[in-house]
Amino acid sequence: MADMQPSVLVVEDEAAQREVLAYNLEAEGFRVIRAADGTEALLLIEEENPDLILLDWMLPGTSGIEICRQIKIKPAFRMTPVIMISARSEEVDKVRGLETGADDYIVKPYSVIELLARVKAHLRRSRPAAVGMRLTYDDIILDAETHKVFRKDRELKLGPTEFRLLTTFMEKPGRVWSREQLLDRVWGRDIYVDTRTVDVHIGRLRKVLSRHGDPDPIRTVRGAGYALG
Ligand code: CA
Repeated sequence: MADMQPSVLVVEDEAAQREVLAYNLEAEGFRVIRAADGTEALLLIEEENPDLILLDWMLPGTSGIEICRQIKIKPAFRMTPVIMISARSEEVDKVRGLETGADDYIVKPYSVIELLARVKAHLRRSRPAAVGMRLTYDDIILDAETHKVFRKDRELKLGPTEFRLLTTFMEKPGRVWSREQLLDRVWGRDIYVDTRTVDVHIGRLRKVLSRHGDPDPIRTVRGAGYALG
């Protein structure tokens, strides 16, 4: 099972710098994916769909700016936060001027504490539950830190898979998730699970959510998948 820990792709060609970043991110509970150049980065983005990307400006081959541009033109990754790292502040000005679509910029040498703070700030917006925040939707409250779910002040007991499903829905109310996308997010990419398994767990989640006569908040979108609300 995939857990809901947020994943960060670190794109940096200098191994020592890459490892320092990875070490500090892992110490904060992030899952780190490493890439040494742009080509590898683009492949891993498609494969792993990371929650956030730390992208070095100076890379062999394709530059960080160009990689950023290529990420941001893809609809699937447009919302993925990209923090660009560069060696000089003039470069940051240039990145801004080039409108690469990067969400943030940090200059080397940076303070690890500041970098982690920025990473978390972006994830609070894009993956709130992954950084332990409390999510609310209508009369449902999900506390990602204590793993508790309440509806109208009644605690609901959910299995781990149903909890992850609800978290995924509550992070993006209204978004339609295909069964494949739910499998990737909730079960993980490395595990083979039949898409019908998704339906089974959605059924269980619905049952718990409407146990006390409350309306079922999950919508089946014919031919597309499921959405909350
Ligand atoms: Ca570099």
